[in-house]
Amino acid sequence: MSATLAVFLTELQPGIKIGIFEKLDSAAEESSNAWNNAGTGHAALCELNYTPEKNGVIDISKALEVNTEFDVSRQLWAYLVSKGEIKDPRSFIHPVPHLSFVRGADDVAFLKKRFEALSAHHCYRGMEFTRDKKQIEEWVPLVMEGRDPGDVVAATRMETGTDVNYGSLTNLLLDYLRQKEGFAIHFSQRVHDLHRDGEQWKVKLRDEKTGEQRDLTAKFVFIGAGGGSLPLLHKSAIPEARGYAGFPVSGLWFRCDNPAHTSRHHAKVYGKAPVGSPPMSVPHLDTRYIDGDVSLLFGPYAGFSTKFLKHGSYLDLFTSVDPDNILPLLAVGRDNVALTEYLIGQVIESDTERFLALHDFFPNARPRDWRLAVAGQRVQIVKRDPVHGGVLQFGTEVVSAADGSLASLLGASPGASTAAWIMLHVLERCYKDAMKNGWSSKLSEIIPSYGRSPASDAQLCRKIRADTAAVLGLHDIA
Ligand SMILES: Cc1cc2nc3c(=O)[nH]c(=O)nc-3n(C[C@H](O)[C@H](O)[C@H](O)COP(=O)(O)OP(=O)(O)OC[C@H]3O[C@@H](n4cnc5c(N)ncnc54)[C@H](O)[C@@H]3O)c2cc1C
Repeated sequence: MSATLAVFLTELQPGIKIGIFEKLDSAAEESSNAWNNAGTGHAALCELNYTPEKNGVIDISKALEVNTEFDVSRQLWAYLVSKGEIKDPRSFIHPVPHLSFVRGADDVAFLKKRFEALSAHHCYRGMEFTRDKKQIEEWVPLVMEGRDPGDVVAATRMETGTDVNYGSLTNLLLDYLRQKEGFAIHFSQRVHDLHRDGEQWKVKLRDEKTGEQRDLTAKFVFIGAGGGSLPLLHKSAIPEARGYAGFPVSGLWFRCDNPAHTSRHHAKVYGKAPVGSPPMSVPHLDTRYIDGDVSLLFGPYAGFSTKFLKHGSYLDLFTSVDPDNILPLLAVGRDNVALTEYLIGQVIESDTERFLALHDFFPNARPRDWRLAVAGQRVQIVKRDPVHGGVLQFGTEVVSAADGSLASLLGASPGASTAAWIMLHVLERCYKDAMKNGWSSKLSEIIPSYGRSPASDAQLCRKIRADTAAVLGLHDIA
């Protein structure tokens, strides 16, 4: 997120002075690391939680938002590749079809309705639906082989899906930034406090290796610390931060590197979330391209840990509680019994039980081909709510100071896929004058659809998708 914002700022104002301070000794070792997230280019092609059914009608509004937010990321990446700033798009993005796969008459009926609603919109041109087992087997053989012949199944497929290595992308963006005047990244530097100091922010840093402390001042601060953002936002003491709390969800994957399987699965296959599960814990069987190798990931299995970061502290949750957020947190505990039960169930699940969930997607899977890996932490947003006292929110939210001198990103989903879209909002909120004085028109060169809506302009949608597909080497629906 921080690297994306820094790229925008550098493009908009060459020479602008930017410092990134990272507490670990290298970049993208938390959520953005390829093994810590699923690498889905979330465009709401296969994630069933973005199309809820309300009173028998499928609501596609959230899906359309996510779908076109991903277009913003594609345009930024295509811009950097076209300029030669990123040499090879294959170093971070691969075309991988996105499928939704369901079992049972009710879920099949839901998928059919969802397909009808989505495929009627130009953003979903090319979506396919089938109940034909042979067809599904052609698309994803591992999902069908060994399956009970009595299973009632259906699938949708979008060939235009992607797998993205967000860790690699982060490092590519940083490589680009390192060549620019005014930019510097500092590792092993923990930001441990910040406060207003007149017109500026005073940021307190501690060197994680030597313990040495120092202060620096900045006119604008972006708190892009992933799970570590909430405590820093509280320390900033901006009134807008009051009442926010975090609810950490941990995750585990099964990972398979056996070429006998990886060579026979080329898709991201998303299923339906179990009752009570958080939407981002929908199980999926994914092709991953990481560091030149192909792997399969299955999961994530959600869990509960009080850490806000994978390299964080078990005290994170407790130290984040303050008089402003205790009531929203308690209200969320009271109102989310199904989620609590689901997480407890996941935590006490044995590896054998976890493996049974994989069998739903890959009936012939054998334990010897798979190993468990720990995913990144996701800190979900808890915030005040006038009706319920507090609500748990599964999206992301930018919280910013009224004067635009500080912004922070909370939440996890749809995450890295929509980083460019989220950072455009940070610019619009925090650099209002500059946006009026030329940045907006420069942004249209970087993001050709800027200020317009591909969801309501079919021609624009087709053009940006064809253009970005050509530059990034992705599938396009002619
Ligand atoms: C299990 C899982 C699956 C996911 N799947 C997907 C997916 O398929 N597609 C998708 O688009 N997104 C996905 N996401 C979300 C995505 O990974 C995140 O939204 C994204 O990586 C967040 O980027 P970030 O820069 O905000 O945070 P991070 O990548 O976590 O970076 C934050 C950085 O801040 C540093 N930091 C923290 N505190 C401090 C401090 N006090 N001082 C200095 N540095 C600090 C950390 O060390 C870290 O390097 C997933 C996340 C998880 C956990």
